[in-house]
This record gives sequence, structure tokens and C-alpha cells, in this order.
Amino acid sequence: MGWNKKVLRVNLTAGTCTPEPLNMEWANDYLGSRGLASKYLVEEIDPKVDPLSPDNKMIMSTGPLTGTMASTGGRYTVVTKSPLTGAIACSNSGGYFGAEMKFAGWDMVIFEGKSPKPVYLYLENDKAELRDAAHLWGKTCWETEETIKATHQDPLIRISSIGGAGENGVLYAAIVNDLHRAAGRSGVGTVMGSKNLKAVAIRGTQGVSGIKDFPAFLAAANAGKKVLADNAVTGQGLPKYGTQVLMNVINEMGALPTRNHRDVQFEEAGRISGEAMHEKRQSDGKTHLVTNAACFGCTIACGRISRIDETHFSVKNSPKYWGANGGLEYEAAWALGAANGVGDLEALQYANLLCNEHGMDPISFGATVGAAMELYDLGILSKEQIGLDARFGSAEALCKLVEMTAHGEGFGKELGMGSGRMCAKYGRPDLSMSVKNQEFPAYDSRGIQGMGLAYATSNRGACHLRGYTVASEVLGIPVKTDPLTTDGKADLVKAFQDATGVFDAAGICIFTSFAWTLADVQPQIQAACEGDWSMDKLNLVGERIWNMERQFNLAAGLTAKDDDLPPRLKTEPAKTGPAKGLVNGLDKMKPEYYKVRGWTPEGVPEKATLERLGL
Ligand code: SF4
Repeated sequence: MGWNKKVLRVNLTAGTCTPEPLNMEWANDYLGSRGLASKYLVEEIDPKVDPLSPDNKMIMSTGPLTGTMASTGGRYTVVTKSPLTGAIACSNSGGYFGAEMKFAGWDMVIFEGKSPKPVYLYLENDKAELRDAAHLWGKTCWETEETIKATHQDPLIRISSIGGAGENGVLYAAIVNDLHRAAGRSGVGTVMGSKNLKAVAIRGTQGVSGIKDFPAFLAAANAGKKVLADNAVTGQGLPKYGTQVLMNVINEMGALPTRNHRDVQFEEAGRISGEAMHEKRQSDGKTHLVTNAACFGCTIACGRISRIDETHFSVKNSPKYWGANGGLEYEAAWALGAANGVGDLEALQYANLLCNEHGMDPISFGATVGAAMELYDLGILSKEQIGLDARFGSAEALCKLVEMTAHGEGFGKELGMGSGRMCAKYGRPDLSMSVKNQEFPAYDSRGIQGMGLAYATSNRGACHLRGYTVASEVLGIPVKTDPLTTDGKADLVKAFQDATGVFDAAGICIFTSFAWTLADVQPQIQAACEGDWSMDKLNLVGERIWNMERQFNLAAGLTAKDDDLPPRLKTEPAKTGPAKGLVNGLDKMKPEYYKVRGWTPEGVPEKATLERLGL
């Protein structure tokens, strides 16, 4: 069956934990994780709710393949209304936490209300308790994990928690699990902090049972693993270089946003690339990279484990950062590096560690620093206002600013608002490189045109994980398309957005899609879940999830005007590289996209579209 068919409802105001059956009618329409949790959210909250009020809810959810032997089947999702964007938020994370929730017998946990004092949820199979977290409040995510494991004398408990960023209202606070994995984007950790919920600790010993046709599932899962192993990206590139394999590739394409998107190529990209992580340092003769690592059940193992140079200025007096730690991944390396013009690999890893330790999204943080550096460069912000010399390329400034933001000190408070609010405050909203107030990830849409449309129309604000046309436009997966043209991108973006909804709802990692199409996932879902899960049905599920999220956003007050890019990307041509002279052609693609989606020119789903999708 794939699902445990059990939901835990936690009312933080009343301090109660109540089990209830999973709505299987909804599971049949939305599969699980992102899809199913979003269905619960849209049914249960007012779309206009203040995201940080007790009336907002936060749902942690697994998918039917989470915890199974499907490769990468360890994902879990956090769904809520975002304080950063005002749109629906859905962030997912790997590691081991999601599988543990499944092993404890639950599909999802719904948090509602607000606890009068800090608490954490302790979940041990059927046992669910809210426990006092006064002693954990103020602790980092790393300290919280260590303390809870020691309290329960069980090193195998899996924990998701917030750090200072979530406690102090940084609008892009993350929820961190297994020390270095995070539901990172859209401020889901900020919502958790607003509820006085410090952590969720889970121990499950029941395994996953009830797979519908186990021999067929095993055969399908094994066939899928072979496809991943035989593929050059998932079988070789990602295990060896991690997602960082992209740094030099994207730079050469002229699509690496640099210095707040002023440039599209970074002259020091090679120094912060996946290849550089393999090179021996001059200082100590060691490589930055120690080994690769995998999330639960993953046969790709793209994760990076690195060791920072002990003599580097950022850590030379802080031995706690000297050991092997998680990172750097491509998005963090870009946001903390190229986005600010910083080419110091050790500084990026230090900033990345602080983001993990204190629970902050490194993409939004790094990109917000990039915007602040541009304001400084233009003389709009002074050294006195920021408290330091924040010139582009300053590793010292990056390291200091990450500390200030994590601790809510000085100008760090302004960085914690995100680039949209910060740039608006200083009269230059156009300098926020964001959509719906969420900062861009690591692809410049002048060099990869389809990504401009994917960013502009993403239901959770700018994001690469909602429609990763980079796969097609750069890597030729599943077919090669020209990154410099807008032709055909409306169809391409829709196809990627809908398919991604299914991958997310199933509980698997989107990086499988470098090798898998939906046709590789379908037999696994079909064998695991009761009912019929044909390709046609899965395609509908993906499209239904997208339109449901869209409906929520429209009801929350967002409009077609919010499906837009910053003026820089539409009016300032790329200065170098293959895209030299190009701007993004969003204004041509957007009407085509609305049409392909079956939406009105105002971006509202047509009645016939909603009826076809059963919405
Ligand atoms: S591919 Fe990477 S991020 Fe995805 S599950 Fe595997 S190790 Fe985790």
C-alpha cells in the first residue's frame, strides 16, 4: 500500500497529539508528501492567513516510496504558508528523518496552533508526546540533535530542528535534520519557530510493511537502480563531484549569476568548483573533500563531506569546525560564492556550516548578501550602516555577515528580512534578484531561457526544484533543447513542473530525474501502492498538484503580476559568454505558458482545466 494510513495531528495550543486515519481519497488524487500535504493545507487554512500566526499550519509529510527500497526514497516534505513569499511553501529534505517517520508508523504530522512555551515533539512508534524545550531554546540545530539524543539515550533518534534563525524570525529560516540536511527554502523554519516548536524527534522500529506487490516492487526498484548506475550523471558525475559538478559547466555556458547578477560568468569559478574540492591545498596538503555521502536508500550519493582548512582565518580559533562536515553543494557554493564574487572555498564552507548549524537557507542568505554588496558598491549603504567593508569579493565580509545574521546582530537583522524587503527599504527594490521575494538559485536565465519562465511561474517563488529545465537545456535530459531560445519553453516548463510534482509526491529525490523519467518511477509506484497508477494518472496527479498550489496562491492574493523577473534580467543583456547580448524573453514565454496550462491571460486556471483535473 505504500502508505501507513496514519496521520498525527498535534495541537500545540492545547498540547495534544491525536492520531487519525489518512484520507485515502485524497491520497488517491495527490499520492503523498508535497501533493497530499498541500491538499491538507489548502483544505485546512485560510489562504490569507498571516503565515506567522497560530492559524497557519505546518505539515511534515512522507510519500509512499519514503522508507522503501526505492533509490533515494528517504525524502520528507514541509508544507505551510510562507512568511517570505506569502505563497504556499513546500520544502523537502533528504537524510534519514523522513524514513524514520515512516518506520514509526506515520505518513504525516500536522502541527496547528502555537505552544505557550518552547516544546519538542517526541515520537517513538505509537507514542507521541510534547516535551519541554526550554533548555533547547537558544541552542543550535547541532546542539539540539546532540542534547535530544543524550536525553533519550538513543543515538538512532532522527531529529529535525530549528536554530537561532528560526527562533529569531529570519524570514528564510530552514529546518535542519541529520546535521546537514535541510528543508531549506521559503522560511518553513520561521513558521516552526513562530509556533514555539523547537524540534521533532522520531524513533521508529516498525520498518515499512504493506507494499502491494513486493516481488514486483523489488524488480522495479532494482531496474531503477540500474538505470541510475548506468547513467553518466547519476552513476559517475554526481558521486564523484556532487552537484558541484555544475559549477564549471554553468560558468562556461555564461549562466552563472555573479555579483548579484551583474555578470553571468565568475572569473574564480574554478576555485570553488567540484574539481577544486578534489585538489590538494597548498596550506596543509589535504583535499577539501573527504568523501561523498548518501541520504537514506540513495544509490547516487551526491552528498559532500569536507574538511575545512584549520589555518583559514574563519576557523583558526574555532576547533569545533575542524572536523569533517557536510557540504559544499552547488547551490550553496554559488550563493555564498559567485553571487557575492567570493572565490575562497574555505570561506564558503565556513558560511555554509553556519547556515546548517543555525538553520538558514544558504541560497537566500547568500543572494541577500549579494544584494547588500551591490547597495554598498552603489553607495546606498555605508560601512557604518553595515558595520564592515562589504565590497564584492570580500570573504571576510561574508564570514562576518553570516555570523551577524545567525545571531540577529546589527545589520544581520536586515539581511534576515531577505533581499526583497531589504532592497525595498533602501529604495532599490529592483536590485533584489528574486521572484515573489524568494531569491534565485544558481542559473542565470539570460543564458538558460527556460529557467526564467520556470522561476517566474514557480508556485513557491524563484526555485530550480520546481521545473529544472537545466536538465534539458544544458544536459540534454531527456532531450536537448537550445538554452538561448524561448521557442518551445512553455511546453518544456509545464512538462518539468508537472513531472516534478510526481517525483516530490512519491517521496524520492528529484536528482533521480537526471536519469529517470516518469516511466522509470511509475512501475515502482504501481507495485508499491494500492490502486491503479498508470502513466496517464500520474501525469494528471502532477498537473493537479500544480494547479492546486496555483489556486491557493491566487486565493492568497498573488496575481499574474507576481509571475515576473527583476528588470535586470529583462533589460540588461548578458555581458559575456554564449548568451552575450541576450536578455530573458519572459514576456514572450509567459502568455504561451498560460495558454499551454489552460489558464486565462490573467493566469487563472480556466473552468474546463479545473474540471479536467477534478479541482
Ligand atoms: S541524490 Fe543526493 S540529495 Fe538526492 S537522495 Fe541521494 S544523496 Fe540525497
